This record gives sequence, structure tokens and C-alpha cells, in this order.
Amino acid sequence: MKIIAYEVRGDEGKYFEEIAEKLNVEIIYCKETLNEETIELAKGCMGVTILGHSNIDSAMLDKLMELNIKYISTRTIGYNHIDMDYARKIGVKVANSSYEPNGVADFTIMLMLMSIRKYKQAMFRGNVNDYSLEGLQGKEMKDLTVGVLGSGKIGETVINQLQGFGCKILVYDTFQKDKVKEMATYVELDTLYHESDIITLHMPLLKATHHMINKESISKMKKGVVLINCARGELMDIEAVTDGIEAQRIGALGLDVIENEEGIYHQDRRSDILNNRQMAYIRQFPNVTMTQHIAFYTDAAVCSMVNGGVSSLVSFINTGSSEGDIKY
Ligand code: NAD
Repeated sequence: MKIIAYEVRGDEGKYFEEIAEKLNVEIIYCKETLNEETIELAKGCMGVTILGHSNIDSAMLDKLMELNIKYISTRTIGYNHIDMDYARKIGVKVANSSYEPNGVADFTIMLMLMSIRKYKQAMFRGNVNDYSLEGLQGKEMKDLTVGVLGSGKIGETVINQLQGFGCKILVYDTFQKDKVKEMATYVELDTLYHESDIITLHMPLLKATHHMINKESISKMKKGVVLINCARGELMDIEAVTDGIEAQRIGALGLDVIENEEGIYHQDRRSDILNNRQMAYIRQFPNVTMTQHIAFYTDAAVCSMVNGGVSSLVSFINTGSSEGDIKY
């Protein structure tokens, strides 16, 4: 059995070797994305595994079908880089990753704390021997209401980890979980916007969630609200968010993701001219903390991503189904 792995990073190597030996599968490795040029390498393979930078549109799905490749696994939780409707239509099966949500949840809470304790400004001052206090007064979690948008795996873990902080927790999701009800209060979306001091996003990028943080939703939020996004950049209309920062309606932002980050994040672009004006502009504010889509990036998660990516392809090939099969 032969499969091909695209977007392979050095830190994934040892996990790929271990799982290949365990499942007795031959793996071709490619550092590049799956694209028009690199697809040739997939000839003779029964499945492909990718990360989030390969754009799997209808044309790419047709090309895979021409090579008789019907199975894809993405070693990411998000799968908005794959045209799922078309994949379903032509009978290509896709599995996503299901690594433990703790790494992203830890990171989310770190961004919350950095934002309410003004850590970016404190760190910059310390770097130039400015140890003044003025402007660095923060807030305590026990006095705040945290609104969690999405109580899926990551949202639920964030809620669980917040228990120790003594804050009030509101949550909104179209699907309510009993376990979450023991730790937080499900409310209408507008109530969450009206009452939360911190709002954190944990929904997938779908048509219904695209730009859900926009001029209108920001106008419903408390003045000085802290927004945290460790989900997908496109959940936020960055123009509206920038306006909110400038008007001081938004008190702080913690962003692990940003719209149009593809081709920038996870690359060394130091010597290049970057063409994401909004990203360059928003990062200069003292109350905006940005990271380069690294919330997921822990040793445990990378191990799970590789194991899941390979084993779901092997399962598809052997049985026609897989645990990671994307159902909706
Ligand atoms: P999940 O599927 O377990 O949870 C998503 C939740 O959103 C579900 O409970 C679902 O009911 C809810 N939802 C979907 N659409 C909704 C809507 N329109 N209104 C209300 N609720 C809605 O996913 P997860 O594992 O918790 O991950 C959430 C997202 O986090 C992923 O889709 C991914 O984009 C992002 N993510 C980011 C990183 C990172 O490194 N920054 C890592 C992993 C995942």
C-alpha cells in the first residue's frame, strides 16, 4: 500500500516513520503543497495526506480522481481548504484530524491573560528598560464574564480550563451539550455579545460563520470587550475589527489567525514584500497580540496529526471508511 504525504515538515518526520512501520505502509514525502506541479508525484498512490496550505478545489479533486485517488486526509482539524461539497459529489472521501483540544485551549487562555494584563506593552517596555506602571493596570478574571462562541471540542476544553479562574462563563452554540451546561450557561448570541467582557471564537469557518464578527455584532458588544480568535481569521471582518480598535470600542485583541494569512504564516518571509495591509496595520496597536497560527503546535498534537492522517488513509483503503471521515 502506497500513499503520499504533502507539506511534510521536519518535526513530523519521526512520527511518519514510526506509523509507516507500524501500519506497514509505504509513504512518499513531499515538502511542497499538493498543487498542479506536485500532483504528478501522487501517481500510483492510493491516498494523499495534506496540511492546511494545499488548496483542494474542484479542479484538484478532478485531477486526483484521474489518478484514481479517492481518499484524502488533512492533518488539520479545519477543512475549509477542501471543497467538501464537490468531494462528496464525485465520491472522494475526506478525513480530518482529531488531535486533543488542550493545546489550542491552553493557548486561548494565554491570549486572554496576555490581553487583560497588557503583557505585550509590559514586554516591549521591559526590552528598553522602561519599568513604569502607568497604563499597565489590568483586570482580574474573577471579575469578568467570558463568552465562548462554539462549545465543540476546543470550546468545551476552554470552558473546562476556565473553571479555576472564577469567571462567569456564557456560551453559544447551535448544539448544546449537557456536560457544558454543568460548567457554563448557554445563552442567545445577542445576550453573549451584550454581557461578555471577553469573547473567544471556537467555531469552524462555514458560510454561516464567515465574518460573524462584523460592524453590527461589534456594536452589540460591551465597550472595551476583549476578542480572542484561535479558530479561523475569516470569522472576523478585519476592517470592522480595526475600526473597533481605533474607536476604542474593542479593548484588546488576541489573534492566532487572520484573514488571508495563507502564504505568510508558517513561512519565513523576512526579506519579502508582504501584501496583507490589514495584518501589517493591526499588529502595530499596543493592545493587539498576534501569533502566527501556532495554537495547535505542540509535541502531542503533531504526533496525533501524523498518526491520524496516515491511519485514516489506511482505514479508508482497507475498509472504505475511517473514524475521521468528515460527515457534515
Ligand atoms: P468542533 O467541530 O468540535 O466544534 C465546533 C462547534 O461549533 C460545534 O459545537 C458546532 O455545533 C459549532 N457551530 C458550528 N457552526 C455554528 C453556528 N453557525 N452557530 C453556532 N455554533 C456553530 O471543532 P473544534 O475542534 O472545537 O475546533 C473549532 C475550530 O478551531 C476549527 O474549526 C478550526 O477552524 C479551529 N482550529 C484552530 C487551530 C489553531 O491552531 N489556531 C487549531 C485547531 C482548530
